[in-house]
Amino acid sequence: MSDTSTPGEEPVSAALRDAKARARSTHYTVGTLRADPDGTVWLECSCGTVLRNGPTWTLDEHVRLHRAEAKYLELSAAAPAGIPRMIDLP
Ligand SMILES: [Zn+2]
Repeated sequence: MSDTSTPGEEPVSAALRDAKARARSTHYTVGTLRADPDGTVWLECSCGTVLRNGPTWTLDEHVRLHRAEAKYLELSAAAPAGIPRMIDLP
């Protein structure tokens, strides 16, 4: 097993590193920013989700949440069995 971490950092397993990379490569914004007459600004994610502002959130907040959720789902799926979790999966 090779360790490519830098000194002082916890080694991250290849599975978790791959999970993060997968989240990045499957969720990137595509196309240009669009603005609707009603003030909605939106972008499409490569996964098909429309990222947009809303009555109480900005487009940037939606983009950040979407990326965090994508990363969580990939990491969660790749995490070792038995690892203590904050969110219980069904
Ligand atoms: Zn996405």
